[in-house]
Amino acid sequence: MRSLAAISGALCVSVALVVALPQEKLATERRRTDNAGLYLLSRRENEGLASKITQAEASGANPEAACAAAQAALGETIVQTQPLIQTDVENNWSQTCIAEPRCIFQPASASDVGKLVQILDDHQVKFAVRSGGHSPNPGWSSIGDAGVLFDMSAMSTISLSEDGKVVSVGPGARWGQVSTAADSKGVTVVGGREPAIGVGGLTLGGGNFYLTSEFGLAADNVKNFEAVLADGTIINANADENSDLFWSLKGGGPSFGIVTRYDLSTVPVYDLWYAAYLYTPDQALELLDAMAQWQKGGASDLRSSVVFSIGLDSALVLMTYSAQAESPAAFGPFYQIKPLTIAIPPTNDTVRSLHDPTSSGFAPTPGRHDYRAVSSQVDAQLYKDVYEFWLVEATAVHEATGANQTFVIQHVSRNVAQQGVGWTSLVDGLDEEDDELARSVSITTTARWRELSQERGLDIDFLYMNDASRDQSPLASYGEENVQKLKDVALKYDPTQLFQNLLNGRFLLSKL
Ligand SMILES: Cc1cc2nc3c(=O)[nH]c(=O)nc-3n(C[C@H](O)[C@H](O)[C@H](O)COP(=O)(O)OP(=O)(O)OC[C@H]3O[C@@H](n4cnc5c(N)ncnc54)[C@H](O)[C@@H]3O)c2cc1C
Repeated sequence: MRSLAAISGALCVSVALVVALPQEKLATERRRTDNAGLYLLSRRENEGLASKITQAEASGANPEAACAAAQAALGETIVQTQPLIQTDVENNWSQTCIAEPRCIFQPASASDVGKLVQILDDHQVKFAVRSGGHSPNPGWSSIGDAGVLFDMSAMSTISLSEDGKVVSVGPGARWGQVSTAADSKGVTVVGGREPAIGVGGLTLGGGNFYLTSEFGLAADNVKNFEAVLADGTIINANADENSDLFWSLKGGGPSFGIVTRYDLSTVPVYDLWYAAYLYTPDQALELLDAMAQWQKGGASDLRSSVVFSIGLDSALVLMTYSAQAESPAAFGPFYQIKPLTIAIPPTNDTVRSLHDPTSSGFAPTPGRHDYRAVSSQVDAQLYKDVYEFWLVEATAVHEATGANQTFVIQHVSRNVAQQGVGWTSLVDGLDEEDDELARSVSITTTARWRELSQERGLDIDFLYMNDASRDQSPLASYGEENVQKLKDVALKYDPTQLFQNLLNGRFLLSKL
């Protein structure tokens, strides 16, 4: 079944800002923690649980009561109460999505998740779900002390079927771990291009990978979702069972339940040719021409993919080809441009091996990040006009704040939807109070992209959820018919609308 993201999708342009607070400031903002001491405190707290529950319930402080009830029911390994371990609180890719919840649920099984959801329902407490923690949107995978955080990291089991055709993965697993497991069987999964990204969030938003032109999004390759519904029941959603929920989870986001296992079909590709080159920013216009040429020509060879980004001080092009090769002809337009330097020399290896040079992991001190989506048809002049607009804006913000941004185009293949593009920017060295100024670059640039593409008949009303910013509405961009269908499914599987009312974040049907 084609994913919702793909059905609705088209030419996708996404923008991201990455803003890093100065290290010293973060160091002083972070609480120093001693894990052993915290566990002792938790144990002491646990001794007084009964009175705590009574107190909390009497005062109507539902988060406290929910945390206490959950810890009483599932124990302190699963339910971490105050004072929290800061590394667990802050295990997000971006500072913008870090908050201190009242307590942290760290379920080990779907059954734990079911019990915990019921406790939250009983106490009507808001919650957030964090798998890989890569969303920079504030509150998407974090919540403040009026709520509870589900940290899915303990559910990261990866197992392969005997025949190597299906990999079953817990939501807390990272794509690097999944591809390593698949690689050991000589197969590959369609997942995330950066190894630290979580399986949980990426798959529910779509999942754009090097092999997407050939095999679709990560969501297209899900064979079965195991999910916990609002009433705590555990169900499977696949082509035969609960197929409406199966369809909804493929790009519909977190509106329907907490996914506790993803059964992913592997794809019969093992070898990958790849190479990456760095260029100077004054080659940007040439590179944008080459990108559009590749999209309109070479990209029809579905084995080819390009990761394309232009920063304020350099540009990067990563080419991949899903077979053993030597300078694949598909990338012809790029070979005409002399690079400043070779970032990754032409390599024939496995798909998994590309995770090594692309691994950024989590910075010891997370930066402040944002990304933003917009879509259009492929057009070199449009790219160049928007790039020149962006360059002025991004340079001005850089001069004012020290922030850096990167302009990224992402190709969407005809095989997935209509052919398309995507965009990202990165910002470094910025203080929290500069967030809005930094974000203004992507906001005005996406508006400009939209305006010019509308004027030129190149616009496409689609926002890719995995690149959408906090104030955007990717679900609305799926179209009225799809939205109505999603709402019907949400009501069927969650009649009390627990997820719509209690889940933190805004990529929810109730927020449309
Ligand atoms: C460095 C970097 C590289 C990226 N590369 C790619 C890429 O190659 N391709 C691509 O498509 N995207 C990419 N993205 C975007 C990425 O897919 C999204 O940020 C995605 O949300 C990350 O998933 P996560 O599990 O790490 O995030 P989280 O922040 O943990 O979750 C994101 C959202 O999903 C929800 N969620 C998470 N797990 C569950 C669950 N088990 N059940 C229900 N809801 C859940 C959360 O509540 C939250 O709303 C990249 C992002 C970054 C920062």
